Amino acid sequence: MFDANPHRLPSTNIASIFRNSLSEIPAKLATIPPFLVLVAPRHTRSQRSYRYIIPDREITLDNSIVQLVCLKCQKTNHDPEISGEFYFCNECHEGESATVTTDAIITCYCTNCLSDMHKNLVRSIHTHHTKRVSSDKTKLNLFAVLCIETSHYVAFVKCQERSQFRHEWLFFDSMSDRMYDEQNVPLVDSVSEFDRWIDDAEKGKDDFFNWLDDRRGRKQPTSNIRQLRLFRDGAFFFYENTNMNY
Ligand SMILES: [Zn+2]
Ligand SMILES: [Zn+2]
Repeated sequence: MFDANPHRLPSTNIASIFRNSLSEIPAKLATIPPFLVLVAPRHTRSQRSYRYIIPDREITLDNSIVQLVCLKCQKTNHDPEISGEFYFCNECHEGESATVTTDAIITCYCTNCLSDMHKNLVRSIHTHHTKRVSSDKTKLNLFAVLCIETSHYVAFVKCQERSQFRHEWLFFDSMSDRMYDEQNVPLVDSVSEFDRWIDDAEKGKDDFFNWLDDRRGRKQPTSNIRQLRLFRDGAFFFYENTNMNY
């Protein structure tokens, strides 16, 4: 992703970087992806654009970043000539050739094309059921953050319990310790404070990051401070669309 951080802000959240990157390219999403991997931007190979990045637990894909394309005329919801809504029609869609993909392709018609197609259907129009298409409610949920400090990789991973509303965050460090100075000893540990850290970062941004700055400035190893690993070293942010079956 691209974000040169021209105002030299100390922190931001990954959803803002994602939105800014799309508008800078400029680009829109053609589909609702089952997974989305966001990569923390860098000025240079060794320098991150932001000192701290907050991983949003949820990213909303709304119509401003998702492109709806009319199956007939190929015009999009961002086309200045198009006014009005996009629709799905059960019968008309039957006639379209299906594309096999894991992405949720948004198939729809613009208002003009749909009314053209329905214009001459006097007898069968009652079987055509239309529905307005909107991607306003699509949410992608964070399920992992891979954090890199030089060559030391660690990860925070969400483990879903049977109920979709209950989950636990785990911390995984494949190089937690060394044995005989030649073997790495891995560690998997529960991180019950994960949600609270994100709340703290989102609410009390400056205080929270001043506290992290203070830890970072001390002359002692910081690799054990998990908040630093998450907010300072977060490099890859993994999101999933939980509404999809794949
Ligand atoms: Zn159209
Ligand atoms: Zn129809």
